[in-house]
Amino acid sequence: MLRFAPSPTGDMHIGNLRAAIFNYIIAKQTKQPFLIRIEDTDTARNIEGKDKEILSILNLFGLLWDRLVYQSDQFEHHRQLAQYLISKDLAFYCYCTKDFLEEKRAEYQAQKKPFRYDPAWAEIHKNTNPKPVIRLRGAQNNISFYDSIKGELTFNAQEIDSFVIIKEDGIPTYNFACALDDMLYDISFIVRGEDHVSNTPKQILIHQSLGYTKSLGYAHLPIILGENGSKMSKRDNASSVAWLLEQGYLPQAIINYLVSMGNKTPQEVFRLDDAIAWFDIKNIAKSPVKFDIKRLRFLNREHLKMLNEQEFALLLESKDPSVGALGKLHLQEASTLNEIREKLDRIFGIKLIAQTYEGEIYTQECEILYNILIKLIDSNAPSLQDYESLKLVLMEESKLKGKKFFKPLRILLTGNSHGLELNELYPYLRFFLKDILRVQG
Ligand code: GLU
Repeated sequence: MLRFAPSPTGDMHIGNLRAAIFNYIIAKQTKQPFLIRIEDTDTARNIEGKDKEILSILNLFGLLWDRLVYQSDQFEHHRQLAQYLISKDLAFYCYCTKDFLEEKRAEYQAQKKPFRYDPAWAEIHKNTNPKPVIRLRGAQNNISFYDSIKGELTFNAQEIDSFVIIKEDGIPTYNFACALDDMLYDISFIVRGEDHVSNTPKQILIHQSLGYTKSLGYAHLPIILGENGSKMSKRDNASSVAWLLEQGYLPQAIINYLVSMGNKTPQEVFRLDDAIAWFDIKNIAKSPVKFDIKRLRFLNREHLKMLNEQEFALLLESKDPSVGALGKLHLQEASTLNEIREKLDRIFGIKLIAQTYEGEIYTQECEILYNILIKLIDSNAPSLQDYESLKLVLMEESKLKGKKFFKPLRILLTGNSHGLELNELYPYLRFFLKDILRVQG
């Protein structure tokens, strides 16, 4: 079984989504079930409702799960396994107070030595601290594992000292709950962010202590850097999946981009189903990758181009394929749905004819053309049927020409003094002329 294990402690980051996509793809390729495990061990940082938000994002991206579990459902089981480890002397109660450990940490730091927990301290505060934690005994031997992206990794036994598996409030730590659940749900392969590399030997040690011999596959994904080259933080808008969706990036374009980052793909533009046919985690580059919004914009446009007019209209909250067609036409100069919405809002909004456009005022010309157009519409004139005929009639009746003709006509029809060619736009606009011709002096 493959799994994606989000913590409901914050907004979904693109790095999380990338791990979810890869786990999903591998599950489909190897015909194994895909599990979503909400890791709610950090009870203080859990945010109410975040689990639902994450699930609805996964759903929107088509990353459908076969099974959904909450880590907290198994807490009792986790505690029992900790007791089992104590009974085998592979784990022990540690009564050290936080202050004591802080002091020790400071001592090690002063001596410029890496902090190592000494099991001899375990019972020093036994009489004064009623809330012990449970620690797993540190590693006796080096721990190695093979990472499909980073290759063979080895951690020295000294680096893995006795670490906490059950906190003082009886809640299992992330490493303990995660390692146990990976065992209990028979996980075979784990894709996750590289910030978890140092947790992996601890989780393997938990498996070893319990005599679990299945060897899991691992792939730790390189971090995603912001455009400025430093780690993409929560403060970078583009790191939030919800933000990208709000901007009008399509889920299929975001998937396309996240799969192709630091990867060699046989197709440039593809969908999730295509990737299932050829994706290989081994092709993901080891080095960190920079988030390239320009590339995402390009891919978004390509995916928007693939939609038909009906589908496009629905994304613009309309059922009318002509609106979809008008939206698609704007792909010549826009890459996100929001940019297209902005153009359509101007077309269908009230035209501000008294305003300055590129340093010039066209109020009078707008009024002249507006009056002629309204008359043509009221009489359902045949010249409205195509742009060339309309242009001739308008020019003749208004006596306007050149810039003084085209700019105001464009303002009346699109709310802007520049943009797509009017002869390309008009065949779509003509269905909506009554709605479009609304002016404010
Ligand atoms: N809850 C962890 C996270 O969100 C999951 C890590 C893992 O996949 O093991 O980073």
